[in-house]
Amino acid sequence: MTVNTDLTAVLDRAAAGGRITPEEALELYRSAPLHALGAAADTVRRRRYAGTEHIATYIIERNINYTNACVTACKFCAFYVPPKSDKVWIRSLDDILRRCAETVELGGTQIMFQGGHHPDFGVEYYEEHFAAIKKEFPQLVIHSLGASEVDHMARISGVTPEEAIRRIHAAGLDSFAGAGAELLPERPRKAIAPLKESGERWLEIMEIAHTLGVESTSTMLMGTGETNAERIEHLRMIRDVQDRTGGFRAFIPYTYQPQNNVLKGRTQATIFEYLRMIAVARLFLDNVAHIQGSWLTVGKEAGQLSLHYGADDLGSVMLEENVVSSAGAKHRSNRMELIDLIRKAGRVPAQRATTYEHLVVHDDPANDPVDDRVVSHLSSTAIEGGTAHPGLKIVEAS
Ligand code: SF4
Repeated sequence: MTVNTDLTAVLDRAAAGGRITPEEALELYRSAPLHALGAAADTVRRRRYAGTEHIATYIIERNINYTNACVTACKFCAFYVPPKSDKVWIRSLDDILRRCAETVELGGTQIMFQGGHHPDFGVEYYEEHFAAIKKEFPQLVIHSLGASEVDHMARISGVTPEEAIRRIHAAGLDSFAGAGAELLPERPRKAIAPLKESGERWLEIMEIAHTLGVESTSTMLMGTGETNAERIEHLRMIRDVQDRTGGFRAFIPYTYQPQNNVLKGRTQATIFEYLRMIAVARLFLDNVAHIQGSWLTVGKEAGQLSLHYGADDLGSVMLEENVVSSAGAKHRSNRMELIDLIRKAGRVPAQRATTYEHLVVHDDPANDPVDDRVVSHLSSTAIEGGTAHPGLKIVEAS
């Protein structure tokens, strides 16, 4: 039997819903013809979403960066500054609430609270902020943070990760965004984030969260010099935890951005590597419901293509994003363009909730939304005439 025949048999088995081993996933990732890989992944997607397979989703959200101070100094990061730097900033709660107000004003449903590991921010900081956000904006879903922040805040406050999760969940956190996964295997993780918790610890904390009823997404940072085998090992580590908890709602690979960081772009993932990862993830992660394509780091065309390689979701209109943008992610979009991208990929676009329910299905272009203020990277705190929270004074854009 030839290698190609073996690969075809593995692809056929995966497309039919059979589980594939990490070794088989690696062979597919390395050697399967790109179109055959995409076709198998698309078959799996169509079967999983039988009845709604014609739909692809997006969400409207805002990243709110609360501080750029960080003690963890990841080598791929262009966002952080050391805590003693004169470039440190911390957003006030009032400023954060204005950003939430603007999100509501523009039809956003989710915020991603995201920042550095500030040396003074323990569990109490997050409790106070999440409680304040939920009090003012109970309609906003707080889909934020990840195991790294939990590990850090628990250490600062001298509590267990379990207690930290219980407390921030009680204060208003709805689900974890799953950032900080980077590369989970030890070698590539130590190479790019030597001060971060281990991949095993990241997964252990996610497992605790899932057990406490706090679900999450999962991510992978591609292109910092990891091997193909290490990428597949990352998937295996996620699949093993998912077999026990079922708490990962989605898997979201994205690509390293090369500017303004210690790694200086010496290695990067190609669009083909990215598309192959989307497809292999759909085939290998048979226990994760959603595979998200990301236009922000790979561009709109590649994001659109991902919908033919197993992805069922095209990410978000991020009203604000500063982290990967600091490292050179230049792509910008808006709600109408995302709808158009999805439609031109042959799907019916639908705005979704954090938990993936369809909020608005755009099945008739005549009824498409026309609000041209819903653009990515708006990053202001001022909307003239905003009504989402009349109690908050509108301030100048910054
Ligand atoms: S990626 Fe996060 S943890 Fe790492 S340096 Fe940047 S802000 Fe800090």
